Amino acid sequence: MLFDSHAHMDLIAEEELKEALSGAMTAKVKKIVSCSTSFPSNEKNLELAQKFPQILPALGLYPLDAMDLTPLELDKAFYFFKAEISKAIAIGEVGLDYKYATKKEDQEKQQQIFLRFIELAKESKKPLIIHSRYAQSQVLKMLEENKTEKVLLHSFVDSQKLMKRAAEMGYFVSVGLGVLENESIQKNICSFPLENLLFETDAPIRFGGETAAPAKIALIAQKIAKLKHTTLKEVEAQQEKNFRKLFF
Ligand SMILES: [Zn+2]
Repeated sequence: MLFDSHAHMDLIAEEELKEALSGAMTAKVKKIVSCSTSFPSNEKNLELAQKFPQILPALGLYPLDAMDLTPLELDKAFYFFKAEISKAIAIGEVGLDYKYATKKEDQEKQQQIFLRFIELAKESKKPLIIHSRYAQSQVLKMLEENKTEKVLLHSFVDSQKLMKRAAEMGYFVSVGLGVLENESIQKNICSFPLENLLFETDAPIRFGGETAAPAKIALIAQKIAKLKHTTLKEVEAQQEKNFRKLFF
């Protein structure tokens, strides 16, 4: 059994969604965590989860979207999260993104919002699914300072040093389709424990000229088995263990 630990099913057109879900089933991808990025996205993911048991919703705000909200909008958002969090499997996709937030005040605003999500995770005992573009060290520092326990670091595969630190903190890291081609990701995965690794497609992101679909998790699993010199069966068993440990 396989799992897609980070996708955006709310962003897939209605007419393509059923096909994506049946494709995933055929590829043995039994559950898909669908991360939210904006207000409409949160509502849509909750709605999809009601209709399709394969979809597990995560509630959150993408850091760059969250940064544009007024204090009142943010309060409203957190009121909504507190009311609805019991219906969600996790909090995500939240975190920091400094690529387009180079000003100190913008970065500080993102940090304040991220702190509120960390608090929400503690109160609700839900895991955090974290985005950390250009801010990986800062994310780890904040998680450590706040003694955060259940964490999945999305696409956190660029730095062997930071990956090692994340694993030592007991966190999970998810690897996406990049591992199929990118040699530096492959190298980093080779030295990373399978016990802390989860797979993601970030569907429907574009990858290699195609739209990523959760069924492609099977390709990641095959690649990881090769890189780790183990069997696909072993990789699947460990994925299931990891997925249950983090989300249930
Ligand atoms: Zn994402």
